[in-house]
Amino acid sequence: MPVRMRKCVKCGRYTLSQTVCPRCGGPLRLPVPPKFSMEDKYGRYRRALRRQMESRS
Ligand SMILES: [Zn+2]
Repeated sequence: MPVRMRKCVKCGRYTLSQTVCPRCGGPLRLPVPPKFSMEDKYGRYRRALRRQMESRS
């Protein structure tokens, strides 16, 4: 099973720590965040649908 590396937001250091950066104590995030969430997907769909309704009226 691959180990999930995380990247420090503050200093950019990659770490195996899952909580805070061991060097500067900064917050960590996954280096490759998901491009979109399900909420975004449906939000976009709703907006497109609304635009369609408005142009029709
Ligand atoms: Zn750091």
